[in-house]
Amino acid sequence: MLIDIHSHLDHCYFNDDLDKVIENAKKANVKVILTAGINPEKNRESLEIAKKYDIVKACLGIYPIQKTYNENDSIKIKNNNKINEQKNKNNLRNINIDEEIKFIEKNKKNIIAIGEVGLDYFWVKDNINEQKELFEKMIQLAEKLNKPIIIHSRKAEEDAISMLQSSKFKKIIMHCFTGKKSLVKKIIDNGWFLTAPTSIVRSTQFQENVKLAPITQLFCETDAPYLTPFKDKRNEPAFVVEAYKKVAEIKNMELKEVVNNIWMNWQKVF
Ligand SMILES: [Zn+2]
Repeated sequence: MLIDIHSHLDHCYFNDDLDKVIENAKKANVKVILTAGINPEKNRESLEIAKKYDIVKACLGIYPIQKTYNENDSIKIKNNNKINEQKNKNNLRNINIDEEIKFIEKNKKNIIAIGEVGLDYFWVKDNINEQKELFEKMIQLAEKLNKPIIIHSRKAEEDAISMLQSSKFKKIIMHCFTGKKSLVKKIIDNGWFLTAPTSIVRSTQFQENVKLAPITQLFCETDAPYLTPFKDKRNEPAFVVEAYKKVAEIKNMELKEVVNNIWMNWQKVF
């Protein structure tokens, strides 16, 4: 009864073999996969994927920065040319945030969470106010729809936490959190959730997070195709068990016990 709380099945790395990837996940006992949209195009793709595969649930959102969209799409871009890159950038600038929020609201019944949303000052520092404005709208949307919210925060952890705190909304999952220890403690004290991504097999930061967080406040994720547990191999939801195993090792628990606890967390939040 494994859950992959965060992935990007719409990524072009899965274009050729998504059927197989879902089969692999089912064989690996994965019962639920959350796939997260990051922009209007990806949100629609996420809905389609969730409609097609029973174990996949869609999360919709608008990612904090436009540069990272380009990063996600860089594989496509590399295979094409400069014109495409420019076109891509133009498209991203034209995102109509309020229209997209309406679209997400309309699809309330077809989604399980709001995500991937948040703040990112690592890639872009010159639009902080714009990012905060967008993030505030995403928090309000999650509250309004009463859907859990899956947060990306990079070099912006403090701001992200203080904005979330002032919302009083509790169904918060901090995905791949790399902030300092005092902030990890804040997340735990607030009763929010942290994730153990599959890269925890080598990341001491994520191992530390798991040490600090009680099992009642943890989920596991792949962030597939990123954060692979196996070197030189594309990540996929079937590999989420590697994160579960590491959590079991750190917590000195049976794997079964970890699986059951996280399943209970899932039932509590979703
Ligand atoms: Zn992600």
